[in-house]
Amino acid sequence: MHDEIRIFPDPFLKNRVSEIENIPSNINEITAKMLKIMEEADGIGLAANQIGYSLRLFVARLPEDKEPLIVINPVILEVDGEDHMEEGCLSVPGVSIEIPRPTRVFLKGINTDGKEVEYELEGLMARVVQHEIDHLNGVLIVDYLSRRDFIRFQREYEKLLKKEEE
Ligand code: ZN
Repeated sequence: MHDEIRIFPDPFLKNRVSEIENIPSNINEITAKMLKIMEEADGIGLAANQIGYSLRLFVARLPEDKEPLIVINPVILEVDGEDHMEEGCLSVPGVSIEIPRPTRVFLKGINTDGKEVEYELEGLMARVVQHEIDHLNGVLIVDYLSRRDFIRFQREYEKLLKKEEE
């Protein structure tokens, strides 16, 4: 099943996803599905492993963007600046956590045609890209919490999930 967003504490989200060596022939189908699921969930970014694919790939799109950003094997080469912002995650519903991150990133990767691409990004998109690469490394927003805050988070999160089941 690749259609549903994996929800924390699904252990699949904790795995680092390895680089794509051969781009799958149905890559356009996969990215179209990722964008659809992301948009239906009102998200601005989605990593492939969030919906069960072991593919090092993410999609992102801000409301003002005409075209989505789709990057295979993304690597951040350079960062600059720092700010703090509350971040949510489609895999950790109902939660937002303040996370410090660089404000600018220089990103390299491959597009769906197999061509090398480079992007210089800042502001919200720079943050989204770092969040999605975290996913591909098996890192979630809750991993930024201190031990004490994580314990508090877990208690509230369990209640939240229970409420949703009802
Ligand atoms: Zn996320």
